[in-house]
Amino acid sequence: MKVEEKVRITETKEYVIMKMVIKMKWVEKGRRFMQDRYGTDELYTFLLYIYVALLCFDLLFHNWILSIVVIVEFTIMFYRVFSKNKKRRRKENELYLKIKEKLVAPFLSLQRRWKDKDTLIYKKCSRCKTTLRIPLPSERGIKHVTCPKCKKRLTVLCLRKVKVEIFNKDGKRKK
Ligand SMILES: [Zn+2]
Repeated sequence: MKVEEKVRITETKEYVIMKMVIKMKWVEKGRRFMQDRYGTDELYTFLLYIYVALLCFDLLFHNWILSIVVIVEFTIMFYRVFSKNKKRRRKENELYLKIKEKLVAPFLSLQRRWKDKDTLIYKKCSRCKTTLRIPLPSERGIKHVTCPKCKKRLTVLCLRKVKVEIFNKDGKRKK
């Protein structure tokens, strides 16, 4: 019984060591395999999201066109990861980032304007196309400002006015 147990333990120990060695070999093989390959980037992440979304749609609707699109997209994704042409893949990623920035910019601008709605007016200069940030006046009506870049005098119609909040002595907002 004791001998059997001993054998079993050594077997498991050896088995664990063997497994570790095999695993390390595979990790090393994988590392060597990926050494001169491109790997992942922002475009890869984007494609992965699209892939997951398309896969969900495909599972729901069982459309053969969608299935083909999913396969093609998956192929492109992994072709890029294992590609040896790093320069080209980098350029693709840069192009993606540029397009993304252009698409996202209007939303970021809207978000900023919404955040500043109680304090600022945004006005585009009709001559040099610069966007001016003008402090909200205390009264509604017509206001004149000069563009700091091209010195053009601009007329701004203010429909909003700065919000005046009254605070109590304890610092709480009066209702
Ligand atoms: Zn201007």
